[in-house]
Amino acid sequence: MNAVLTLNESPEEGKGRLSGVEVAVKDNITTKGLRTTAGSRMLENYVPPFDATVVRRLKDAGAVIRAKTNLDEFGMGSTGENSAFGPTKNPHDPSLVPGGSSSGSAAVVGGGIFPLALGSDTGGSIRLPAAFCNIWGFKPTYGRVSRYGLIAFASSLDVIGPMAGDVGLIADVMEVISGEDPRDATTLDRPPFSTGKAHEFSRKGGFKVGVVRGHLEMVSEAVRERFEPFVDLLAKAGNDIVDVNLNSTRYALAAYYVIATAEASSNLARYDGVRYGTSVRGENLFETYVATRSLFGDEVKRRILMGTFVLSHGYYEAYYLRALRARRIIYEEVLSWFSDVDVVITPTAPVLPPKLGAGFSPVDYYRLDTLTVPFSLAGVPVLNVPLGGFVGVQVVAPFGEDERAVGFGFYVSELL
Ligand code: GLN
Repeated sequence: MNAVLTLNESPEEGKGRLSGVEVAVKDNITTKGLRTTAGSRMLENYVPPFDATVVRRLKDAGAVIRAKTNLDEFGMGSTGENSAFGPTKNPHDPSLVPGGSSSGSAAVVGGGIFPLALGSDTGGSIRLPAAFCNIWGFKPTYGRVSRYGLIAFASSLDVIGPMAGDVGLIADVMEVISGEDPRDATTLDRPPFSTGKAHEFSRKGGFKVGVVRGHLEMVSEAVRERFEPFVDLLAKAGNDIVDVNLNSTRYALAAYYVIATAEASSNLARYDGVRYGTSVRGENLFETYVATRSLFGDEVKRRILMGTFVLSHGYYEAYYLRALRARRIIYEEVLSWFSDVDVVITPTAPVLPPKLGAGFSPVDYYRLDTLTVPFSLAGVPVLNVPLGGFVGVQVVAPFGEDERAVGFGFYVSELL
C-alpha cells in the first residue's frame, strides 16, 4: 500500500523501556544512515549523518527503527496523496485516503504492521490520519518534544508525536521522547512526560468535560452519529458534560494557512540547489535555481507562492500580522475553557475519509483541517481517541498538561 518507503536492514538491539518494540518513523524525521526524503524529490537521496533527538531517544530506550513511512511532501497535505512517491491507501478500505500528512505512519499502525509509529503534526497531521485509520495519535504541547532532526515545515507549529494501537504505548513513547533538548531552543524547561501523572489523572473520574457545541454543526451526519453516543457514554459514566464555545474557529483555518505558508516559504528557501537538497545544474546560477526548485510538487509550490505573497511588502500587515492576532485570540479562548473544565472534546475531522483521487479543490482539502488547526495555533496538547468507523475525537488539555489529555485517554479506553 506504499506506506513504507525504506526498510532498515540492520536494526540495533537495545535495552530499556521500549526494549525490542518495533517503530516506524515518518520520513521527515532524520535517521542516521537511513534515507530521509520528506516525501519529496528534493531530498530523494538524502542520507542524514545524524539521528533526530526523538530517534536517538527511542534507540536508547531499546526501540528498533524498522521503517520510514510515506507522507505528503514536507508534511503539506491532509490526505496522504501529495507524496512524490505516490499515495498511501487506507488500510481498512483501499479506496479511501488514510489521511495526512502522517499517512504511512497511520496506515502501518492501523493495518497492524507495526504497533507504533512517529508522526509530526503542524495543523493536524497526526490527529487526522489517526482518526481516519482508527488509531490513537497524540500531538504534544508545542515544545514538549524536541524538533531537532525534524525537517521543518512551519517551525512555530511543528510537533513530533506518537501514533499507536493503544494509549499505553502513546504514554510510554511520550515518556521516552519528551523533555528539554539543548539542540532545540524552543523545547520547554519542564520535566519529561510522566505516565504516573497520567494514570493519577485518569483515576480521578467524575470529569467535567467541555463539548464544543458549535463544531457539531460543522461536521457531517456520519461523524455526529459516532460522536454523540460517545458523549452519552461519558455522561452515563458519571461525568459532567458542559457546552463550551470556540467562536474563533472561524478565523483558524485562514490564520493557519497564512502562518504555515509564510513559515514554509522561509524554511524551504534553503533548497536552492546550492546549499541543501538535490541540485539540478543549469547553464547559470539562475537556471540552477529554477531547475532545482522545479522538483517541488504542485502543493509545495502553491504554499511557497502563498507564503511569499503574505509576507511581501504591502501585504504583510494585511495578512501575516492579522493572522498572528487571530492566533492570539484563539489561544486565549482555548485557555479560558480550563478555568471551568478538565478537558474539552470535539471531533477530529469534519467528515469521513474522502475517496482516493477525489480531486477536490485545494481549499476543500484544507477544510479537512478545520477542527484540528485551532489547537495547533494554540500550541496545546491533543489526543485523538479512535471511535471506530473512521471517526476520531480530540481530547484537548491546557498548555503543558499533556498528562491530562493522555490520562483522559486511559480513562476512556476503559469505557469504550
Ligand atoms: N493538512 C495541514 C497542511 O496541509 C496540516 C499538515 C500537517 O500538520 N503537517 O498544512
